[in-house]
Amino acid sequence: MRQGILVRYGEVGLKGQLRGHFEKALQKEILRATGVDPRAVRRTSGRIWIWPEEGKIPEVLRAVTRVFGVVSASPVLEVEAEWEAILQGALRVAQRVRARGARTFKVEARRSGKSFPMTSPEIAREAGGVLARELHWPVDIHAPEATVTIEVREKAYVFSEVVPGPGGLPQGTGGKGMLLLSGGIDSPVAGWLAARRGLFPIPVYFHTPPFTTVWSWEKVKDIVEVLAGWMGPLPLYTVPFTAISQGIFAKGPERLGTILMRRFMVRVAGKLAEREGAGALITGENLGQVASQTLESMAAVEEASPLMILRPLLTWDKAEITAKAREIGTYPISIRPYLDCCNVFLPRHPVTRPSLEEVLRAEAQLPVADWVEEALQQVERKEIAPPLG
Ligand code: ATP
Ligand code: MG
Repeated sequence: MRQGILVRYGEVGLKGQLRGHFEKALQKEILRATGVDPRAVRRTSGRIWIWPEEGKIPEVLRAVTRVFGVVSASPVLEVEAEWEAILQGALRVAQRVRARGARTFKVEARRSGKSFPMTSPEIAREAGGVLARELHWPVDIHAPEATVTIEVREKAYVFSEVVPGPGGLPQGTGGKGMLLLSGGIDSPVAGWLAARRGLFPIPVYFHTPPFTTVWSWEKVKDIVEVLAGWMGPLPLYTVPFTAISQGIFAKGPERLGTILMRRFMVRVAGKLAEREGAGALITGENLGQVASQTLESMAAVEEASPLMILRPLLTWDKAEITAKAREIGTYPISIRPYLDCCNVFLPRHPVTRPSLEEVLRAEAQLPVADWVEEALQQVERKEIAPPLG
């Protein structure tokens, strides 16, 4: 008898080569996240089994249910495919769930192959009867509070607890994107959602000291750390943005300030994307949230971008974004009250429907290429590790 973890993954639509690629990437991510010995991980019949060292089950279970691509995981007991051993295993698992307060239960059974002498319904009925008697536990076939599952193959497996994972696709299967990360609530969620589809987000923060302080940077770094807890170490790019912001507000029409700043951001991020081999930019923009997030404003910014801009949150409601931020763990950091450059350099009367011509005219007065080049020369890249524990 041994204890392990059964990992389920989805995306059944993935076929052929794509599926093999997905499975390899998933296995690699599981090894990274759990730190278990590669020999302790096996893949059979569309599922992954982990057999960690004694006592490590809770830790490994926690880690594996944060891996993108994992639909759910269960602590599982492996026993010999013999009736007595199966009953003993089922009792052990059942006792644990029962102790947690489930008032009713049922047994589900699956048998693959015909070598075991009982059919699946027989296994379920017989084992259910034994558990009910031994534990004085009422069976409820239709709406049980717990389900004890028995699977009989070469060996037999018993489990009950099913812990959901984030789903999605494994890290790296969708390439890389530069994540414009501001320290607000939205952009970390946007990065997480991209990552969940396998698009590895590389955070870029535009920093405007002394208007934004070291605490603003710390805040962004802490957010990246939480994201790294989901996806492993992440590089954080910090771009000094004070000179550009001041230049824009000194030379351009104030009401276009935010849009002009954003156009510089996407240009710089586009250049960093070349260095990193990233194929897109990702922002936390959300339709209609502020003046700079109308269709016209977004179009006026996008026109300056060498890459497509992905906006995973475009159509989300604020309450949905906030709920997701809490789930991911970035929310408490995002609401720390430090300033972002876009709040410091905020036009008093921003345009909501800029015309591209007007924007281009204003920008023609600015030394665009020089400013981008200067900013790029001062960029810093720092590897951010996941939080400990
Ligand atoms: P967030 O909560 O992500 O800060 P927001 O609702 O405050 O978003 P804006 O401040 O208008 O919206 O920013 C829109 C998007 O522009 C952000 O989601 C982010 O992707 C990008 N952005 C804004 N400021 C910065 C910055 N200082 N550094 C990097 N990206 C930024
Ligand atoms: Mg913001």
